[in-house]
Amino acid sequence: MTCQLRVLGCSGGIGGDNRTTAFLLNQNILIDAGTGVADLQLHELRAIDHVFLTHAHLDHIACLPLLLDAVVGARTAPVYVHATEQTIQLLRSHIFNWLIWPDFTVIPSAERPSLIFVPHELGQVEQMGELSVTPLPAIHTVPAVSFLLSSKASSVVFSGDTIGGTDFWQVVNQVASLKALIIETAFADKEHAIADAAKHLCPSTLAKELKEWQGTAEVLITHLKPGESEVTIREVLELDHIHPIRRLLQGEIIEF
Ligand SMILES: [Zn+2]
Ligand SMILES: [Zn+2]
Repeated sequence: MTCQLRVLGCSGGIGGDNRTTAFLLNQNILIDAGTGVADLQLHELRAIDHVFLTHAHLDHIACLPLLLDAVVGARTAPVYVHATEQTIQLLRSHIFNWLIWPDFTVIPSAERPSLIFVPHELGQVEQMGELSVTPLPAIHTVPAVSFLLSSKASSVVFSGDTIGGTDFWQVVNQVASLKALIIETAFADKEHAIADAAKHLCPSTLAKELKEWQGTAEVLITHLKPGESEVTIREVLELDHIHPIRRLLQGEIIEF
């Protein structure tokens, strides 16, 4: 069976048609829950059983509280939110704390919660039918992971927010049948210092990171800041002539 990864949002910010990071995998799995989730129909929201989070930054979780609110009562099964223990703690302390949003792990009751957190660790393979999701190393300003998504036929790697790093590339270099590498380039090179401080990539650091990669799959660029997306993607195309590389498009479906 082929897996489908639908890009709900792949922008580094909002404004106009820009939606932040969220992917729908095979109808019932979300990879990050940025503002792209808000474009789903109610029946599509109700079909989501699992949410995998790269990290707790708002552009990746903004729609998670609203998703739970939208589906509570209409589902009999809980929504499972998979993240590292550190990310789960951040969500418990700062979002689902009855101040910013209710604690859905006890709604409607502790015995029948609408939200169950599932802690995962690097390298831990989560098998979901014919599909598997594995957290891989990432380096960001807060605890973060990237994801390896694998079907029986092939795989896609999604970097999340990261500056890459040797540990990430070591794992990615061992992935057989890689169909696509989705990697962020949040800032243009004129904002190199800001990118470094925020632990995001810019075109020149992306080019440096890609030198560590031995693969030849298509590189899909995500998380471009809306105001500088054109200049950023132009710089990316000028700096890396080795790999097939292009901008990831909101709404596109990657089959693997
Ligand atoms: Zn981030
Ligand atoms: Zn982000």
